[in-house]
Amino acid sequence: MGAVLFPQQVIARKRDGAELDRAEIAAFVTGSVDGSWADYQLSALLMAIFMRGMTPRETALLTEAMLKSGVVADLSSIRGPKADKHSTGGVGDKVSLHLAPMVAACGVAVPMISGRGLGHTGGTLDKLEAIPGFRVDLSLAEYRRQLKKIGLALIGQTAELAPADRKLYALRDVTATVECIPLICASILSKKLAEGIDVLVLDVKYGRGAFMKDKAKARELAVVITTVARAMGKPTTAVMTAMEEPLGHAVGNALEVAESVECLRGLGARDLMEVTFALGEQMLLLAGAAKGAAGARALLERSISSGAALGKFRELVAEQGGDARVADDPGRLPQAKLRIALGSPSSGFVTDVDAMGVALAALHLGAGRARAEDKVDHSVGVDHLVKVGDPVRAGDALCRIHAKSPGAAKEASAMLLKAIAIGGERRVPARLVDEVIGA
Ligand code: URA
Repeated sequence: MGAVLFPQQVIARKRDGAELDRAEIAAFVTGSVDGSWADYQLSALLMAIFMRGMTPRETALLTEAMLKSGVVADLSSIRGPKADKHSTGGVGDKVSLHLAPMVAACGVAVPMISGRGLGHTGGTLDKLEAIPGFRVDLSLAEYRRQLKKIGLALIGQTAELAPADRKLYALRDVTATVECIPLICASILSKKLAEGIDVLVLDVKYGRGAFMKDKAKARELAVVITTVARAMGKPTTAVMTAMEEPLGHAVGNALEVAESVECLRGLGARDLMEVTFALGEQMLLLAGAAKGAAGARALLERSISSGAALGKFRELVAEQGGDARVADDPGRLPQAKLRIALGSPSSGFVTDVDAMGVALAALHLGAGRARAEDKVDHSVGVDHLVKVGDPVRAGDALCRIHAKSPGAAKEASAMLLKAIAIGGERRVPARLVDEVIGA
């Protein structure tokens, strides 16, 4: 048995810039789960890590220890490759809702464990819960059974998976230690690898509407995560994507479900489908289900044109207790009391749609939460949102606002008018899909 490690010894070593070893990192992670480290000691080490950083070896050890702090789902009884994708979070990012059925329809199982929205970005679980009856709280046994049956499950994190992340993330949230690459890497990967996947694709977003505004920092995160995941035996690539204007035309839970259904019908917005195909291609390539990017793209397109992906979506919703008729009739999704068009104040071209401004308007309408315990209103948000480059005439609708009261609609209108700029010259939208890291 090794010598007992006092928290203050480990904290002091990191404070002074030392590289922590396996035993020290294990003591910290175990201490976060069994309560042997006090919150102030965990927080002190988090801040020391934030200030001093971690070497690649320390980051890998931390990721592994956090992964092993709970159960790792055993999906070995499910035949074929299992692939997932994770987005670092954006505005109007409903990609998982249609991408997961598309990939599953191509024969690659998708075990997806997602989170709720916090701050300005939405969460896949909140969107799924907009579907009447949809259950995200499957047990691990139900999750496994469903994956075996239909090759697809989208659920919330269970208490057994990566419990150290649950504790540490809550502390980071209130100690200004979230924006730290080694901590983000360990947090994301410990949860994702606990799903029992074989391969992983990350959508690492940068820009105004992203969690990482700075592209160089986002790229650094992508390099660290893909390197650590590969070292842990999980082939992983990261697609770098811009998040300056919202993805697609809708922001808000039920409205985004409706937009994902449109994607599955072959009517998805250009930008949204560009990101969807880029991520889907990587998933199929890593899973060995396609030879080259063009072959992967053809499979994904066929999953839509054949109706197979929409069929998978129906199966998913029905298996998880939801009303699968939303796939044919979005009117079955929750509807807001008020629906009003926001008129353009002038004629010209849309020169900017600030993702953060739109997200804050949606948050104000009640589509997101400011604190973890807040309830979201699934029905509210904006849709039919214009895109950069669109021509508009004065009075044309810039978007539709779905609100619960005239007061909320009025305030959201003012916020949206600030977020959307109209100018005299047509601007070409910035490139959306950038490099792929780790390919
Ligand atoms: N998302 C996570 O799951 N963890 C982080 O640390 C940051 C974003």
